[in-house]
Amino acid sequence: MQNNLNSICIVGGGTAGWMAASLLSSSLQGTGIKITVIESPDIAIIGVGESTVPSILEFLRVCRINLKEFVQATSASFKLGIRFEDWLKPGEHYFHPFGRVGQDLHGFEFYQAWLKTCADGHASRWVDHSPCAIMAENHRFMLRPPQDQNWVLRNTGHALHFDAVLVARYLREFSLSRGVERIEATVDKVVVDERQFISALELNNDTTITNDFFVDCTGFKGLLIAGALNVGYEEWTHYLPCNRAIAVQTSNTGEPPPYTTATAREAGWTWKIPLQHRTGNGYVFSGDHCSDDKAIDTLLKAVDGELLIEPRVIPFTTGRRKKIWHNNCLSVGLASGFLEPLESTAIHLVYKILLRFISHFPDQDFDPQVEQAFNQKINLDYQEVRDFIILHYCTTKRDDTEFWRWCQNMPIPDSLNEKIHLFRERGELEHSYGQFFSQDSWCSILEGMNVRPKKYHPLMDGFDSQGLAKTLQENVQDIYSTVMQMPKHGDYIRQHCAAKKVL
Ligand SMILES: Cc1cc2nc3c(=O)[nH]c(=O)nc-3n(C[C@H](O)[C@H](O)[C@H](O)COP(=O)(O)OP(=O)(O)OC[C@H]3O[C@@H](n4cnc5c(N)ncnc54)[C@H](O)[C@@H]3O)c2cc1C
Repeated sequence: MQNNLNSICIVGGGTAGWMAASLLSSSLQGTGIKITVIESPDIAIIGVGESTVPSILEFLRVCRINLKEFVQATSASFKLGIRFEDWLKPGEHYFHPFGRVGQDLHGFEFYQAWLKTCADGHASRWVDHSPCAIMAENHRFMLRPPQDQNWVLRNTGHALHFDAVLVARYLREFSLSRGVERIEATVDKVVVDERQFISALELNNDTTITNDFFVDCTGFKGLLIAGALNVGYEEWTHYLPCNRAIAVQTSNTGEPPPYTTATAREAGWTWKIPLQHRTGNGYVFSGDHCSDDKAIDTLLKAVDGELLIEPRVIPFTTGRRKKIWHNNCLSVGLASGFLEPLESTAIHLVYKILLRFISHFPDQDFDPQVEQAFNQKINLDYQEVRDFIILHYCTTKRDDTEFWRWCQNMPIPDSLNEKIHLFRERGELEHSYGQFFSQDSWCSILEGMNVRPKKYHPLMDGFDSQGLAKTLQENVQDIYSTVMQMPKHGDYIRQHCAAKKVL
């Protein structure tokens, strides 16, 4: 006997709230489940969160949002990966590209073939085998034509840099057009029943809302999940000590490059996120190693262009909710947890939470095992991102400040320790179904941070050394010649998806 939900209430009108409304209104179409968003006119959204990973395209596809229209409406630029500066040592840089790196050879991973050619003296850069890295170096971009036969184009991938305020605005209009109801009000009180389920929300316009299920998108405070249901927070500050960020926006000084830049600094790192109409900048740092004034000074010296807003300080606590879904409440976005944006993963985790929620979608019985299965899976998603971020710090050779000296001996979770150990010994990287970061991503960071395995796979010696080197060299040339025929990133945007003048 079906006992379906009748209504869902999303509280919060930031990126998370409107992504939730967009995706749920798409996925629940035809079910008759009513979706309402409560958006406060008095509490601003965080207004950062502008660099994404390729799953943003999947989100748009699932919602049936046209990519070019979205790019135009959000003043977006395209992103091919992240350029990391000064992480290994000052003066060194590397690139973490999207898409594939190289092509697997007769069932062997490309990384092993590449290692063998390096060991045999035919050295090439790891990123020479990545179409996205070569596109980024040359500021080239084009969307992959559907069903293209060219292996170089097939191995590309991309994400977006976009304006967070415009994204919320676009997704709001989109959701409303899908039948989502919007209430402009602030939640004053969350009413919880004796079973610890949310029964009602009291609003500051003297109305009370009752719904079957609630989605908490109220930002760091987690008004429903933490404030009302008292779900605790698992801190990961002992692994990742950065706990503050300064954000500023500046005018563009040239064409926006098709990548995010993350530069290591004395007590953390700064970001540059280029949009069509401006650049987002910030400094993520450890408050134990640097004052706000010093951090603002460091950031302002690092930016190009004119300041468009005054620097804003954003404190945060790294970690995640002990239960992201509890009873009739799902937390999404900053309400569910936060990991520093080094790999631009927060919006990806918003999408992942929503996808997992849809596949474990509850009915009014609220079976605790369904909730538990969801929480176990999403915890692994958070853990994967946490470990990947720690990898950038724990492999540094920097010892020029207290912060970086701490990183030399920082605690590392067992899950990451095991991974690094297996990689150092044999170049092996375990990859489980559903994990987000590919082996290519792990290899890109490890190679960028100068971590090489002791040996390559023993069966690679079955390949002729000269023949292997020749194949790889031909592939590098294929990549280069395909990329150099692509338009410049700025020209591509101007021609296909220039921002509308809504700014
Ligand atoms: C410094 C920094 C940099 C970041 N960079 C990136 C990045 O590059 N890439 C990335 O993917 N992510 C990034 N993020 C994360 C990203 O910003 C968030 O995941 C995303 O913006 C979602 O935020 P949110 O909607 O959860 O919260 P918010 O934007 O804070 O929205 C909260 C909403 O809740 C509402 N609200 C609060 N209280 C009430 C109430 N009582 N009643 C009604 N409504 C209420 C507010 O009005 C607001 O609409 C970054 C975060 C930080 C802190």
